[in-house]
Amino acid sequence: MKQRYESKELSDSKSSIVAAHTIDIVCDSCGFDVDEDDLNSDKCPDCGAPLELKQNITIEVAPLVIFVDTSG
Ligand SMILES: [Zn+2]
Repeated sequence: MKQRYESKELSDSKSSIVAAHTIDIVCDSCGFDVDEDDLNSDKCPDCGAPLELKQNITIEVAPLVIFVDTSG
């Protein structure tokens, strides 16, 4: 299961910016992508091991706008 979070500035803090990121919840044993419905299961629906959840967090790099001065 992938959950995506948009980048945002925390309004209660002056300098904190949360980068856009994706949290992928997988089985720690086999890496199976665990659905929301299966989060409360005792066993992994794929490998049958006792379900240990692992979060893979992918930070997305914000798109950069680069201005190149080619006028010399
Ligand atoms: Zn598994």
